Amino acid sequence: MVPELSGARRLIALRLTGREFFRLALVALAYWLAAKLSLNLALVHGQVTPIWPPTGIAVVAILLVGRRAAAAVALAAFAVNLPIGPSLLGAAVIAVGNTLAPLLSAALLRRVDFHHQMDRLVDAITITLAALSGMAVSATVGSLVLLLSGVVLGDGFWGTWAVWWVGDAMGVLLVAPFLLSLLPRPALPRLTWPRVAELGGLLAGTAIVTYLLFQSGLRLEYLVLPLIMVTAWRFRQRGAAPAALIASAVAVWSAVQGTGPFAAETLFEKMVTLQAFNVSLALASFVLVAFVETRERREELARLYAAEQLANQAKSAFLSLAAHELRTPISVLNGYLSMLADGSLGDDPAAWRRSLEILTAKTRELKTMVDQLLEASRLDIAASRPPQAQIDLRDAVRQAVERARARADLLDAEIATGLSAEPVPVRADAIQLGRVLDNLINNGLTYTVRPPRLSIAVSTEDTQGIVRVADNGVGIPETEQGLIFERFHRVNDPNFSNVPGTGLGLYISRQVAERHKGRIVIEHSEPGAGTVFALSLPLAQPDSRVAADPSPSPLREPHLSWR
Ligand code: ADP
Repeated sequence: MVPELSGARRLIALRLTGREFFRLALVALAYWLAAKLSLNLALVHGQVTPIWPPTGIAVVAILLVGRRAAAAVALAAFAVNLPIGPSLLGAAVIAVGNTLAPLLSAALLRRVDFHHQMDRLVDAITITLAALSGMAVSATVGSLVLLLSGVVLGDGFWGTWAVWWVGDAMGVLLVAPFLLSLLPRPALPRLTWPRVAELGGLLAGTAIVTYLLFQSGLRLEYLVLPLIMVTAWRFRQRGAAPAALIASAVAVWSAVQGTGPFAAETLFEKMVTLQAFNVSLALASFVLVAFVETRERREELARLYAAEQLANQAKSAFLSLAAHELRTPISVLNGYLSMLADGSLGDDPAAWRRSLEILTAKTRELKTMVDQLLEASRLDIAASRPPQAQIDLRDAVRQAVERARARADLLDAEIATGLSAEPVPVRADAIQLGRVLDNLINNGLTYTVRPPRLSIAVSTEDTQGIVRVADNGVGIPETEQGLIFERFHRVNDPNFSNVPGTGLGLYISRQVAERHKGRIVIEHSEPGAGTVFALSLPLAQPDSRVAADPSPSPLREPHLSWR
């Protein structure tokens, strides 16, 4: 069994190696063929060309296959340089330079997490920088080899360096985006025949217009830009990359022929004209592509956001409807249970008593959940309006503690309060604020494995009234602290798996706090030691109506979430 398995593994490994070898051979062949073709356009000593597509092929190969593609590039570069290079050693050194340069460009592109579809401004800028900086390496190594071997004389060094550099850089800037534009992009719609015809027409138009402009000596070659921009706008990278490549290929061809603007130019002037034209084309079209893609992405995000909002509203409406419908049967259940409990329906058999107690407790839990569902969906749907009443935060806390007293006694819990001596006036909806405080206090009583000890402080800080609720509970792990304010989120703690709850309490609390232009946060939490929640609300300006009446306005009893 074991030898068979290792045999199968060896076969798979062999196949993988075979496939990898084939891929690298393909890279080497593409590099070599492109080099042979473009050497026909050489401007210096049959060796330096105004555009050197192999560099683009090398960068794309390293981006797609990884750094191991460098071996194929090195081999192909050596094969290209051997017959034309000054010596065996010279060809080898030039090949090393030709390999290091695309490695450097690819490393720079990787640093910015280069998008192959070039849909961000940073992609357009980085490919330009990567082309110009990386290729300085191959130009320097190559020109030095030519100088040292006497092929180029001292005063010809910088001319050769410049031609070599821009040639290699143009290979990256124009050929790499073109090759990348050919990669399948599942997100893009398939090109229909009419669209293919339109793209073909625009590319042919670009070639013809560029040709005509470079035939005339009027120096109007940049007039082709609008056509390229239209192609980029209509077809993004799939249009921009080939259009820029075609236009610059025609320009290179005109430079080699010496037509139009190139007629009376020296080699150096030709290179400047050509490369200024090429860089402008590439940058302008790629920046336009990035702009259009970014705008489209933003629109798509806005569309998704609107759809998400609609879905959320529908969900809230459904929850609200379901909770509403559940309320009636629950109140009927509640009514009959209390009639049974208080003996209105006759004496209950002793055997029923325990079951009745459980039923009553569970019905209360059910009511709590339904009320929370209803409240959460109401907060989601209803538009917020500024709270009108001014209340003293200390009173709100006193009342909440009063409401929690019965449960605290049952649990043998202590609730200490430390209230500021001065009033802490805030504008708030007393019922909603009561709900938030009830929830914080009840959570402190619930999520603990020791007799609960709570301390609640009310203070004023700058323009804020603050309530701090500190407990000696189990604490909240750091990874959960951002999540527990989300709808339905509960910490997965086996100690509390039987504690009923909806995971809506803190969500509702945060919504309420935000509607009051306040905040609710976990100020401190330590697993095993406890948690401090802080609720802050903006202090209200003194209000004469309320100040005149120190007794708090009668509050409707806020709902208590008993566990
Ligand atoms: P519920 O109590 O219904 O689950 P909440 O939104 O009030 O909903 O709380 C969400 C979760 O946050 C709780 O399930 C619990 O895991 C955790 N939690 C809330 N308050 C505390 C606290 N004081 N100490 C420890 N955990 C807490």
